[in-house]
Amino acid sequence: MPTLPRSSSTLTNRVLVKVAIDLALDRLFTYEVPVELCREVKVGQLLCVPFGHREARGFALEVMDEAPGSDMEPHNPQSAFAKVSASAEATADKPSTTNCQLPTTNCQLPTTNYKIKPILGIADPAPFFSPAMLKLVRWIADYTCSPIEMCLKAAVPAAVLKPNAKPKELLFVEPCAGRAACPQAAESGALGTTRPTTEPLELTRYQQELLENIRRVGGGWVQQLCREFSTTPTTLRALAAKGGVTIAPRAQRRDPLAGRSVLPTKPLLLNGMQRAALDRIVNVQPAVRNGQEARFPGEPSTHPSTANYQLPTTNYQPILLHGVTGSGKTEVYLQAIAHELDYGRGAIVLVPEISLTPQTVRRFAGRFGDKVAVLHSALSDGERYDEWHRIRTGAARVVVGPRSAVFAPVKDLGLIVVDEEHDTSYKQDETPRYNARDVAVMRGAFENCKVVLGSATPSLETWFNAQRGKYALASMAARVAGHPMPTVHLVNLEEESEAYASAPIFSKFLLDAIAARNRRGEQTILFLNRRGYSRVLECKNCGCVITCPNCSVAYTYHSADNCLRCHVCGGWTPPPVSCPDCGAHEFSYTGVGTQRAEQALRKCFPHARILRMDADSTARKNSHDDILSKFRAREADILIGTQMIAKGLDFPNVTLVGVLNADASLNMPDFRAAERTFQLIAQVSGRAGRAEKPGEVFIQTFHPDSSVILAAAEADFARFASDELKEREMAGLPPYRKFATALFRAKESALALRWADLYAKSLMKYPGLSVSEALPPALEKAEGWYRFQVQIRAASARTIAAAWRWIVQARPLPKEVRAALDIDALNVL
Ligand code: ADP
Ligand code: ZN
Repeated sequence: MPTLPRSSSTLTNRVLVKVAIDLALDRLFTYEVPVELCREVKVGQLLCVPFGHREARGFALEVMDEAPGSDMEPHNPQSAFAKVSASAEATADKPSTTNCQLPTTNCQLPTTNYKIKPILGIADPAPFFSPAMLKLVRWIADYTCSPIEMCLKAAVPAAVLKPNAKPKELLFVEPCAGRAACPQAAESGALGTTRPTTEPLELTRYQQELLENIRRVGGGWVQQLCREFSTTPTTLRALAAKGGVTIAPRAQRRDPLAGRSVLPTKPLLLNGMQRAALDRIVNVQPAVRNGQEARFPGEPSTHPSTANYQLPTTNYQPILLHGVTGSGKTEVYLQAIAHELDYGRGAIVLVPEISLTPQTVRRFAGRFGDKVAVLHSALSDGERYDEWHRIRTGAARVVVGPRSAVFAPVKDLGLIVVDEEHDTSYKQDETPRYNARDVAVMRGAFENCKVVLGSATPSLETWFNAQRGKYALASMAARVAGHPMPTVHLVNLEEESEAYASAPIFSKFLLDAIAARNRRGEQTILFLNRRGYSRVLECKNCGCVITCPNCSVAYTYHSADNCLRCHVCGGWTPPPVSCPDCGAHEFSYTGVGTQRAEQALRKCFPHARILRMDADSTARKNSHDDILSKFRAREADILIGTQMIAKGLDFPNVTLVGVLNADASLNMPDFRAAERTFQLIAQVSGRAGRAEKPGEVFIQTFHPDSSVILAAAEADFARFASDELKEREMAGLPPYRKFATALFRAKESALALRWADLYAKSLMKYPGLSVSEALPPALEKAEGWYRFQVQIRAASARTIAAAWRWIVQARPLPKEVRAALDIDALNVL
C-alpha cells in the first residue's frame, strides 16, 4: 500500500499510520496523518512522531483509512504481522494445560480509549523499506521471536539513520562553458557571481592560464586544483568573481576502496563444469510475476517489489553450488552477476568474514568497477552512509558484504550469492538472531530473485534441502585447469609424542615439509584454532588453572604484553607470582596458541619470514588486508593463523598446509563438532596447490582413524554427509528436527537456574516439543552473568516460536533474569 486511495468518500475519514518506534516494546503505535501530509506518507518511510513528552522517530509499517463510526480499520482488521503471528499459533498444537493462556498478537490495535495523536512530520521522503523488504523484516521478527523494531534496526545501518547523517560536501570548481551558464549558477547559490554580459572576461595572464588548465581537466575540488596547479583558494575565488568558473558545494564520495589498487579483469573462459553451473543459475526460472514475462536486455525494468504478487512457491528454487575448493566458484558468481547487470538487475554477494572481504571486494571491483558497493563493519560512518545511498539510488548495482549486506536496498534485485554458505558468521548472535543465508533465501522468494548458495562444504541443512529437491544442485567436482586436489597426510600425534616425550607442536614430517618449501621458495600456511601464547597457566604443584573471575574460562597467556587475557569478557591481569590455591611459584603453560606456535617456528626456522594472523594481530583497520597482501606478494614464507585463514584465500604459491591440531574442534561438546571439523580440514586443505604446483597437506591428530578426519582428508563430502545425516536422524537433530536454545542469565546462579528450570518444566508440557532439563552450558558464567540453557527441539520452528511466545506471556520473567531464544542455534556452548 505505497500510496493512499484518494476518493471523495474516504476524504472524510482519518488516515492512520502504524509506526514501529525504536524502543524494543514489540508493539506498533497508531498515529493520525494530518490532511496536508496524506499524499506524502508512504509505507517504509521514517516518520517523526510525538511519544510521551518527547519526539521520537519510527518506521511507517501500515497506512490505512479509518472507517466512519468505527475504531478499527475495516480494510485491514489486523496487520499483516498480526495475521502471521496468529496463523503461527493456529497451526501449532495448543498446550494441554488449562492455566496456559495463549499469547496475544504483537500488534496493538487502536481502541476507543486510545488517544490518537498526529504525526509531526516525515524524516525522509524516500522510504527506507520497500513493501517486499518490510515483508522480509516481518518474517524475521516472526521466525526469530524478536521485536519488529529490533529487526527494522538490524536492516538499516545506524550510520544512515543518525539524525545528523549527511553526505560530505566540499567546494567544487567548474569552468563556465559560456557566459550564459554563469547567472544560473549564481542564482542557485553558487559563489561564482558574475555579470550577465557577453563581453570577454577580463583576466590576467595568470588567471587565463589557470582557467585553461581547469577547462582541460574539466574542473575539480578546490583543494585538488590548488595542489595540481600550485594556486590558492583566493586566486580561484578571484577567477570565480570574474565569471571564469563557478565554485559550489558538491557531495564528495567517501570511497572505502580509495587508494587501493584494483586491477580490471575480463571474464575467463569457463570450463565445462563452470559452464554447466552458470547455465543452471541463469536459466533457473524465477516465478512469473502477475503474468509478466521475463525481461530482455535493454528493456526498462519495473520494480518487482511494488508488484502485488503472491509468494511464489512452485517454481522458485534456490541453487546450491557445491564446488570443491579451487573449482572456480567465484568466476561463476562473477559471470552470473554480469548476466543480471545485462538485464538491468542488481546483485548482492554475501561473504563470511571481514578477512575475506578485501580480496573478494577486489575481485568484484576488478570486474564491475564503480558499480560495486562495499558494506562491512570496518567502514567509517561516512563511507557506510555513502555506500548505502549509492545502492539506494542505483549508482551501485553490486553489493559485497557480510551478514547485514543481505538487507542492502538494491533496486531490481536479480541475484543473491551466499559464498561459503555454511559459515557460522552468517548467524547473528544478538537479537534478532537471524541467519543471513536463510534471510537471503526468503528475500529471494519475496523479491522473486535467484539465490545461489555456494560452498565446498555445505551445511548439512542446505545439503539436505538439495537432496530432497527443495534446492537445485549444481556440482563442480574438480579444480580448474586440471589442477589436482592436494595430497593429504595424517600424522598420528600419539606416535610423535612417544618419540618426543610430550606432544610436539610440529611433527618431524611437517617440519621437513616446511623446510623443503623454504628451500624451493614456495609458501606454507599453518592453521591452529587458538590464539594467544598458550591456552592456560597451570600450577605445577596443585594443577590449579588460573581463570577469569567474571567468566568461567581459563585465562590465555599473551606473550606480546606478558599478560593473561579473558577471551570472553576481554578482561586482563598480569600473570600471578604464586598460585592462588597452594602458593607454589612454578607454572606450566599447557595447550598451544598461535603466538607460542609462531615462537617455536622461529626457533626451528630462524631465517624464514613468518606472518601471524589472528584476532590479536589484526586489531588495526586494514591489518587483515596488509598481512594478506604481504603474503600474496611473497614477502613471507609462512603464514600461521586461526580460522581467519581457513577460508576463501587463493594464493597460487602455497603448496603446503599444516593443521597443527585437528582434534581441538572434534572434542567440542556440540552436536555439530564433526561437521565443523570436516569443514575446517577441508577448507584449510583447500588453500594448498591451487595453481600449477601441486599441494600437500599435513593433518596432525590423536585420532587418525576417526571417520570424520578420514573423510575430510579425502575431501569426500558426500560420504561424510551421508554418515553424519544418519546419526542426526537417529538422534532427532537438525536438519531432521528444528533445534533452538533458550539461554537464561542472572547475576545470581540460583535465580537463573530457578527460571530456566521453570520454563523447561512448563515447555515440556507443550505438545510437539522435546525439551531438555535446565543445563549449565560449557560457558557457565560470562561477564559476571550466570547462565543456564534449555535445549528445545520440534518438527517446525513455528511450533517452537509459538511455544516461546506462550510461555513468555504466561510466566513473565522478573527483571533480574534475562532470557533469549535462539532458533536454529549454531552455538550450543
Ligand atoms: P573456489 O572459490 O571454488 O575455491 P576460485 O574461484 O577462487 O575457487 O578459483 C580458483 C582459481 O582458479 C582462481 O585463481 C581463479 O582465477 C582461477 N580460475 C577460475 N576459473 C577459471 C577458468 N575458467 N580458467 C582459468 N582459471 C580459472
Ligand atoms: Zn572474563
